[in-house]
Amino acid sequence: MISRRDRSGIGMTSARTRERLVQRLKSEGIKDQRVLNQIRDVPRHLFVDEALASRAYEDTALPIGLGQTISQPYVVARMTEALVAQPCPSRVLEIGTGCGYQTAVLAGLVGEVYTVERLGPLQRRARALLRQLDIYNVKFRHGDGWEGWKSNAPYDGIIVTAAPPEQPRALLEQLADGGRMIIPVGPRGRQELLEIQRHGDEFEERVLDYVLFVPLLTGRQ
Ligand code: SAH
Repeated sequence: MISRRDRSGIGMTSARTRERLVQRLKSEGIKDQRVLNQIRDVPRHLFVDEALASRAYEDTALPIGLGQTISQPYVVARMTEALVAQPCPSRVLEIGTGCGYQTAVLAGLVGEVYTVERLGPLQRRARALLRQLDIYNVKFRHGDGWEGWKSNAPYDGIIVTAAPPEQPRALLEQLADGGRMIIPVGPRGRQELLEIQRHGDEFEERVLDYVLFVPLLTGRQ
């Protein structure tokens, strides 16, 4: 299936097209070469509908069905860069698997990714696609990200790709001492992208950027 879609995407998904995206992200300030390599190597066209494959290497969010989107490459790169800065986390919790693109980018950079998605069909599709791409260091859970994934905590990195109105307490609790969380927080329409580092019972916050994410909803479906 991959090879068929790869072939049908030739031209639009060529090395040159991908390199153009990498250059664009560089010009927008992404510096970490490991992250840029992942953006170049992960086949984003396989994470979107075939009809949208020709736009997969544009720096834009695209619809993936069920009212959800695949994140903009710049935002994926920015969040990943902040998360894998030294010391690079080895166990990462991701909330909001969606199509699994951010998951795949991360999986090549850290030891283990634990990813939680509330929509069953998206979670199953992402799991199957990552399998096909021979990515095996990801554990999937169909659940409510507000609760995190307690049985595997603590995590030295947490990345949240949907926006809660306030910081979820369970996620702060599941962050290891010295660990870092990258999370958009705020109302619909515009959120602060925060980097939160834990020092014992203290949480140090820094605003990295302003972003636009779908809301972190409650419950699973
Ligand atoms: N990470 C994705 C983008 C995800 S979009 C990418 O790489 O493109 C946000 C995702 O968060 C959606 O799939 C949505 O269903 C999911 N989501 C929203 N609220 C959630 C919750 N409480 N728990 C888990 N996932 C949630």
